[in-house]
Amino acid sequence: MQVFNNEAKWHTYWIKTLQTHKSIGFVPTMGALHEGHLELIKASKKTCDITVVSIFVNPIQFNNAEDFEKYPVLTDQDLSLLRQEEVDYVFLPSKETIYPESPVLSFNFGHLENVLEGEFRPGHFSGVGIIVSKLFNIIRPTIAFFGQKDLQQVAIIKRLVLDLSFPLKIKVVPTKREQDGLALSSRNMRLSSIEREKALLLINSLIQAKNELLTGKSWLEVRNKVRQSFEEEPLTQLEYFELVHPETFEVFREFDPHKKSAICVASFVGIVRLIDNLSINP
Ligand code: AMP
Repeated sequence: MQVFNNEAKWHTYWIKTLQTHKSIGFVPTMGALHEGHLELIKASKKTCDITVVSIFVNPIQFNNAEDFEKYPVLTDQDLSLLRQEEVDYVFLPSKETIYPESPVLSFNFGHLENVLEGEFRPGHFSGVGIIVSKLFNIIRPTIAFFGQKDLQQVAIIKRLVLDLSFPLKIKVVPTKREQDGLALSSRNMRLSSIEREKALLLINSLIQAKNELLTGKSWLEVRNKVRQSFEEEPLTQLEYFELVHPETFEVFREFDPHKKSAICVASFVGIVRLIDNLSINP
């Protein structure tokens, strides 16, 4: 496994790859790697000749200073995990390599900016758009892999690729969960044991809501019940629980079993903000 921290070094590898017509699978991450990240890496190794993983905690996508400061950094552990997975290349840039100067560019993803994550994390998706564009331009992958766990991020990235004609494909990998259903996340390690228990309210509410919708209950009734259960749990603070189109993020007021939809949730558990989602396909 080769670890590199600048663009010039990568280009020497990249040219070799190009000459041998090998496909490049790319998995961008912010490190503190877990089984969810490994699913993306496995998908890349299955489909592409070589796999590149990047680790970079992108400061400009954090709208909350404390969240950025407390974001776990476990580089040595990450590198040994990536070695075990037989990843070919790891891009581990410094902040100065990625941002020699603060970017003046910003993205506006229209409707996607105004709802759910866009509404509650102003500037987040612009920061995601900038780092992902930079990484695509540096790595030049054939296929980039993203997790369904961050469903709205997937919609943003597909839009970015479409609008800017990035010459690559996007593959989406299903959410990896703990046995009890909690979606794996680097932020889970910041939960106390009691908060870890309460965090199950996210997935349990999603499952309950999906089941109730499929048995004919109205979305408003379902959502009110879920909101109430979050209100009754003092360790949680619900930000949103919404029914949306999984690609456009049109927010639905009613459930239509003939339309593709997904339920998305964001809630604080203690001081840790968690998100999750569940698809309901016709
Ligand atoms: P992050 O390091 O949190 O920025 O995540 C890097 C990539 O891993 C993103 O594409 C995430 O959607 C994906 N990811 C994070 N958690 C999971 C999970 N539990 N299952 C599948 N993919 C995930």
